[in-house]
Amino acid sequence: MKESTYVMLKPDGVRKKIFEQVVARFEKAELKVSNIKIMHLFPEIVKEHYIHLIDKPFYPILEEYLLSGPVIAMIVEGDDAIKRVRDLIGATNSKDALPGTIRGDYGDKTNCTYNVIHGSDSAESAANEIARFYPELMDMSKDSDGTQKKLFLKPGCIKHNN
Ligand code: UDP
Ligand code: MG
Repeated sequence: MKESTYVMLKPDGVRKKIFEQVVARFEKAELKVSNIKIMHLFPEIVKEHYIHLIDKPFYPILEEYLLSGPVIAMIVEGDDAIKRVRDLIGATNSKDALPGTIRGDYGDKTNCTYNVIHGSDSAESAANEIARFYPELMDMSKDSDGTQKKLFLKPGCIKHNN
């Protein structure tokens, strides 16, 4: 099934200059990369994105990490894109990620936090994360009865070059 997923090169991934290699890996796997943008995150959006981890002892370090420099966001599309992107990224802890995966090749093997890249973990996360990081792509119009439409990407808003 064709899916869209949210991918974000984290600040250490940007500093390590692996953006081109990451895009090449997705494109080689016949996934389309689009809507690339560089952003500097702010504390509230990091808290929202990592709400499932907010009570963990490592959360303050995680937030500091995500705010330590710019990130590069992208939307990745293709058949079964959500799981296939996660497979290309590899395990959360880079020391457990297999060689040939992005985290296995570029993540910090001595510290689980610094694992260079994020990819949505489910269809629900992908929809929420694309809406969170790409509000400009969302069709916020209301139905005729005045209720807010379910969030939809505006038609034609996905731009890719391959
Ligand atoms: N993380 C961490 N310590 C942990 C688990 C996670 O620092 O014990 C960080 C790591 O950067 C990870 C992020 O928190 O990518 C989000 O964790 P999640 O469990 O959602 O892993 P992911 O989906 O990124 O593989
Ligand atoms: Mg996750």
